[in-house]
Amino acid sequence: MILQMAKAGFYYTADIKGSDCVRCFCCYKELNNWDDSDDPWKEHLKHQSSCVFAQLQTEEANLSLSQLEGILIHREANRIVSILFS
Ligand SMILES: [Zn+2]
Repeated sequence: MILQMAKAGFYYTADIKGSDCVRCFCCYKELNNWDDSDDPWKEHLKHQSSCVFAQLQTEEANLSLSQLEGILIHREANRIVSILFS
């Protein structure tokens, strides 16, 4: 499950001890309370349909350069928005 989470763009936040909360590197969406049967890609898109990385449903190693560039542009825009509205 950890590898599938990482491939779907998530990293562990460790914000609360014992939490399974993860955050997307692109849209910064946080998700927790995972079930073993959850598909990280499907959950990502379901809870943050605007995430360009989740929309691609393609792990990082298989992205084209233009796809990666688009993701990085959106990531930076999302980071700026999160700073302005936090
Ligand atoms: Zn995302």
